[in-house]
Amino acid sequence: MWHPFTQMREYLATEPLVVADAEGHYLIDDRGRRLFDGTSALWCNLFGHRVPEIDAAVADQLGRFAHTTLLGTTHPGVAELARRLVEIAPSGLNHVFFSDNGATAVESALKIAFQYRLLTQGKEAAQQAVYLSLENAYHGDTLGAAAVGGVELFHDVFKPILLPSLKTPSPYCYRCPINKTPGDCSIDCADELEQALARANGRVCAVILEPGVQAAAGILTLPVGFLSRTADACRRHGALLILDEVATGFGRTGAMFACEREGVAPDLLCVAKGLTGGYLPVAATLATDRVYAAFLGRYDEYRHFFHGHTYTGNALGCAAALATLGLLSDGHIIRGVAQKARVLSEALTPLASHTHVGDIRQAGLMAGIELVADRASKASFAPGDRTGYHICLSLRERGIFLRPLGDVIVLMPPLSSTDAELRHLAASVHAAIVERLGA
Ligand code: PMP
Repeated sequence: MWHPFTQMREYLATEPLVVADAEGHYLIDDRGRRLFDGTSALWCNLFGHRVPEIDAAVADQLGRFAHTTLLGTTHPGVAELARRLVEIAPSGLNHVFFSDNGATAVESALKIAFQYRLLTQGKEAAQQAVYLSLENAYHGDTLGAAAVGGVELFHDVFKPILLPSLKTPSPYCYRCPINKTPGDCSIDCADELEQALARANGRVCAVILEPGVQAAAGILTLPVGFLSRTADACRRHGALLILDEVATGFGRTGAMFACEREGVAPDLLCVAKGLTGGYLPVAATLATDRVYAAFLGRYDEYRHFFHGHTYTGNALGCAAALATLGLLSDGHIIRGVAQKARVLSEALTPLASHTHVGDIRQAGLMAGIELVADRASKASFAPGDRTGYHICLSLRERGIFLRPLGDVIVLMPPLSSTDAELRHLAASVHAAIVERLGA
C-alpha cells in the first residue's frame, strides 16, 4: 500500500494504527485500544460511527440497489437529495451537479465557470479567462483544484503542470503577508483582491475561496468582512464567486454553511465531506439559475456540460446523505456546535500562555493550535523535528487520535462530541505539548 500524504519510508518503520472497529466517537484498534477520533475521519464525520439512522438508511437502500448511473437515468434518492440541498443552501442555488469528493466538486465548479464564460461571452473572452484564488488556499489534489491551491508544501512541486491562476494574499492574520497589525488593518487583503480583479480587467471568470476558514493551511480563520467584500468585488468585476464549503459545510462552524455568517450567497457552492455524515463519498456543486440557464439549448448547439463521473449520484451515498440531513434538519445539532465551540474555546484557554503556542484559531468545532519555536519572533520549529507529528503520536497513548498540519495541531472533533470529551481533548493536547516541549 502507498498511503496518501505519507512518507512511506517512515511509515513502514513505525507500528501502524490498525482500525479494527469503531463505535460512536471512538476508533477501536486491533489491540482493543479505544481512541477518540479528534480528526472526524479527516473532517467528514459529523455524528460518530455506526449511527443507527444512517446505518438503517444505507441498509434499506442496499435492499433495493447500490448504484446505477445519472447519465440518462435518475432515482428517488438522488432527486430527493438534490431537493434537500437546494432547501438548505443559500438562496438562489437551485441546481445540483453531483460528484464524488471535494476535489471533484471543485473541478466541476471551475469547469462550469469556464464554460459559462465561453457560453455567455464567446471564444475570445474564454481564451483569456483566468481564475483568482488565495495564497494558502486548499481545494483538493486534482490538477484543476491544485491550480487554485496555494499551500506551498502541497502545490509547489506540481507548479509546472498547473494552469496559471492569479493569487492574492491570504488573510493569515497571525503572519500577515502584507505586514499589517490588527490595529492598523481594515482587512487590507480584501483590497488587494479587488485590485487584482481590477488589474485583470474582466479576465477573471471566477474567484474561488474557502469561506470562514482556510482549513488545510492550518485552520486560518478569515476576518469577518473578507467574504462580503470579496463577493461585492466579484459582482463589480463580472467574476463568478465559487465558495468551497467542503470542510466548513454541514454545521462544522456553527452554521449550516460558513458563508451564512456574512449573508453571502455564491454563484457556485462546493460541498462534500460531511454531506454523508462521513459514510460514503458523495459531493455536489450547486449553481444558480443564471449559471444553469446558460447551458440550456438544442442538443446540437452542444451547450451542455461535458463532465461527469461513474459513481455520480451513488444510491447508497445518497441514502447516507439524506439520513445525515435528516439528523441536521431540526437545527439542534448545529445550535449545539455554537455552545460546544465555547466549551472547547474555554478548555483551550490555558494553552494560550504556553511558551510554544503562537496562536490558537477556532471556528465552531474546528481549531488549530500553531506551535512555534519562539513566540517573540514567531520562528517555526525545524520541519525535521516533526514537532506536531510527535505530539499527535504521543496522544494515542492518552486515547486520542489526531493528525496535525505541520506544527499546527488540528482539533476537528465530531459535532456530537460531549462537553466532557471536548474538555478531555483540550486537556490531553495540553499535557502532550507540555510533555514534548516543557511547561
Ligand atoms: N476543499 C477543501 C476546503 C478541503 O478542505 C478539502 C479536503 N481537505 C478538499 C476541497 C478536497 O476534498 P477531497 O479530499 O474530498 O477531495
